[in-house]
Amino acid sequence: MNPKINIKDYESVVGKNYIEELRMLANRLSGKTILNINSTFVGGGVAEILSRLVPLLNQLGVDVRWQVIPGEAQFFKVTKKFHNALHGKVESISDDDFSVFLETTAKNASQIDFSGDILFIHDPQPAALITKKSDIGKDWVWRCHIDISQPDNRVWNFLKQFVVNYDAGIFSSPNFAQELPIPQFFAPPSIDPLSEKNKELPPEALETVLTKYGLDADKPLILQVSRFDRLKDPLGVIRAFQLVRRNFACQLVLAGGTATDDPESEEVLKEVKERAGDNSDIHILDIPPGSDVDINALQRAATVIMQKSLREGFALTITEALWKAKPVVASAVGGIPLQVKDKLTGLLCHSIEGAAYALRQILANPDYGHWLGRNGKEHVRQHFLITREIRDYMLIFLTLGRREDIIYL
Ligand code: UDP
Repeated sequence: MNPKINIKDYESVVGKNYIEELRMLANRLSGKTILNINSTFVGGGVAEILSRLVPLLNQLGVDVRWQVIPGEAQFFKVTKKFHNALHGKVESISDDDFSVFLETTAKNASQIDFSGDILFIHDPQPAALITKKSDIGKDWVWRCHIDISQPDNRVWNFLKQFVVNYDAGIFSSPNFAQELPIPQFFAPPSIDPLSEKNKELPPEALETVLTKYGLDADKPLILQVSRFDRLKDPLGVIRAFQLVRRNFACQLVLAGGTATDDPESEEVLKEVKERAGDNSDIHILDIPPGSDVDINALQRAATVIMQKSLREGFALTITEALWKAKPVVASAVGGIPLQVKDKLTGLLCHSIEGAAYALRQILANPDYGHWLGRNGKEHVRQHFLITREIRDYMLIFLTLGRREDIIYL
């Protein structure tokens, strides 16, 4: 449990009334135990959100617990392939892989203590534990954090036979979902405004990070924070920057990391460095995982934040940027249009030239940039903070078994 997290601190961010409403909903859940099950306590977005969501719900008085499924390396190799295939990537998956998945699930199903009233199962790895429902009953909810709208059908059809037995499914965006014969809810991801990545920082922290990475405090800074992945289009970002740099003195920072589970990232980083050449206004930063305060400070020091991805998940980098009241220029892909309402909470782009045009608009008119940023921050406050995700989950838990009371919009 994280002793630093205190639900009361969120009153200053979303208002006392909002937290009171959460307490009221939590009250209605009294007597119910909710058991989260996922595949890891650390690393990745799901563990990150659970590590804050669970203590916050506990503080609200909800009996929420968290368990992780055990598994051999072979099982996680298979689930990683399933993950990629569900994202539409071509993977070679053998009958043995399906057997490994089922065998581990059967073993886990016999060992896990399923005490609780609502079983809240995250992502595909533990999804087949639902086979236990015929023995033990209870309400089962499947929380899908990934985009499964264009999956490899073999893997999806395999998984679907389990998913259809859940009492409800929760997806991050309507366009990430699948047709299913069970009630489906839409709950976008969220960020924690008080985490190291997003908390307010003193001006010295920004100065420190600018010095640390050799950046010019007096030049407008264009930033993209992303893993070095072709789908994040770092070369497109460099091209857009070069077009803009002809008319504006500015600097570009591509801040990212090379994931150990992504063999391509080293190669992409090399290409990016080559393309940047000896341009002293382009800074390629290979930032180690866990450097949350550095990322926070870079985002806060930026003039404009880009996310020129070719494909995206929800794009938490955009949520983080908007929360820092930054104007953003981002491609209209994945979850970005949910966050960037064009010309209101940021600028959407559809090409390199479009990105350059949008950057120029913001650099030429800082007031316009500040206005977009302020709107973006309010949009995140209303829709994409952890308090909203907690509220959504509690409402969904309360509706279980009461389908007739749900108003579908
Ligand atoms: N991130 C980071 N360091 C990096 C690159 C990314 O901390 O070098 C963080 C970023 O701040 C965000 C997350 O990783 O919180 C990326 O999430 P997003 O949904 O934008 O993209 P994904 O990497 O999941 O495709």
